[in-house]
Amino acid sequence: MAISSTSGRTLLRGGRVLDPATGRDETADIAIADGRIAAIGAGLTGTDAEVIDVAGALVVPGLVDLHTHAYWGGTVLGVDGDQLGPASGVTTWVDCGSSGAANFEGFLRHVITPARVRILPFVHLSYIGLTPIGRLVNPVGELSDWRFADLRALRQLMEQHGALIAGVKLRASSDAIGANGPVVLPLAREAADELGVPLMVHVGNAPPTLDEVLAHLREGDILTHIYNGSVGGCILDANGRVRPAVREAKTRGIRFDVGHGAGSLSFAVAERAMEQGILPDAISSDLHAFNVNGPVYSLPHVMAKFLAMGMSLHEVLRLTTVAPAEVLGRRDLGRLATGGEADVAVFRLEPDESELRDSAGHARKGRFRFDNLVTICRGERLDRRPSA
Ligand SMILES: [Zn+2]
Repeated sequence: MAISSTSGRTLLRGGRVLDPATGRDETADIAIADGRIAAIGAGLTGTDAEVIDVAGALVVPGLVDLHTHAYWGGTVLGVDGDQLGPASGVTTWVDCGSSGAANFEGFLRHVITPARVRILPFVHLSYIGLTPIGRLVNPVGELSDWRFADLRALRQLMEQHGALIAGVKLRASSDAIGANGPVVLPLAREAADELGVPLMVHVGNAPPTLDEVLAHLREGDILTHIYNGSVGGCILDANGRVRPAVREAKTRGIRFDVGHGAGSLSFAVAERAMEQGILPDAISSDLHAFNVNGPVYSLPHVMAKFLAMGMSLHEVLRLTTVAPAEVLGRRDLGRLATGGEADVAVFRLEPDESELRDSAGHARKGRFRFDNLVTICRGERLDRRPSA
């Protein structure tokens, strides 16, 4: 039951406050004022506050989705974070290479700046980013011609907007860029080094092979689509054993991101890898226009799949809040801290044994689903909008 207020103050009353960053898991209230968390504790009172009764619900940090495509309107595959965020609890959308140097400015001006959710962009090595991805009969562009890897343009972008760029993105698989992976991998390495940001590389069908990709990654870089079942890009060998280069990459501090996507989460690969100790550093969706109606749907839907594979609730929440924030070097995000920006998501955890499907259509029996009740970003409660 909500009591409307225009004071900019909100009181979330009586929820199960669970914050993996601190280990807090208790019934408490959260008071929000001026965009920040004013207090967390029992029996808080909120004069002039909008009081939201969240008794029995799970109150967690706003989710951080480390792999999305949020350049809505500027790329065919972009989704609208402001439309989907309020129904999913995702307050931080890491956009993975939708824009390149040529169209970063449009992304910034028309989408990132006006958005009520927080969008953190990884810039694509390709000058034109992911604008060609969509409905072309013959996929061309991106880096199917390696000349789109224009380091000079990225240097200019860095001079203008360096502080806003969270990383460099490269899709290194044959279905994305033909045979050019081995050619552009060193260029992506060089770009990330020059910009001083992490490099995120998508793996899939070879070329390049996973081992070739890993040879170009360093501590703090991100490998995405870690549980894909492709040929040449899978972290398991033909016998289902984790490849030695993968263990070595983990030891070297390379971060492992799920990036479910339309074709990159295999339950079988994930289960075999996790049994052998290869856990993700982030659970992310790779949400875009061609998987939002299945098999991905949303980050909470992907989280339910990890619950279905036996991961604990705490671990699923850690890997969608503080863990991806740490991958980004953003210790201000993914946590509920008094004085910090108020990103908060409220879910009802509902028992649900419906079948959940991976990218290949294989099913696992669900355990729970996350129904988002409230999403607050930077202190603002995001309203739900009808579909565009
Ligand atoms: Zn992606």
